[in-house]
Amino acid sequence: MSDDPRILLENRLMSLREELARTAAAAAPVELDQAAQGRLSRMDAMQQQAMAASLAERLRTEIRKTGAALDRVANGSYGECCRCGDEIAPARLAADPATPFCAACVKE
Ligand SMILES: [Zn+2]
Repeated sequence: MSDDPRILLENRLMSLREELARTAAAAAPVELDQAAQGRLSRMDAMQQQAMAASLAERLRTEIRKTGAALDRVANGSYGECCRCGDEIAPARLAADPATPFCAACVKE
């Protein structure tokens, strides 16, 4: 594993964007009036679409968070808590390289 946060974050951003592209396709509106589709399969399709839409929303949030972390790498503030300015523990950054807050600030 690379310990360069920029590379870690860029790789993560790339895979998140790929996953979002796949998910967005699955979240596209379903054709509801196909004669061949029964009521149950229509409900299945709508449920799957709703799940894909909520996953896409989570991915967009994660992409914003990762992009913001990359901005902090660029401006030299990466690794500092965005709320209190303290250093974020390395173990915490290892678990989630895009985290903007130290453990104490997240608990509040
Ligand atoms: Zn903090």
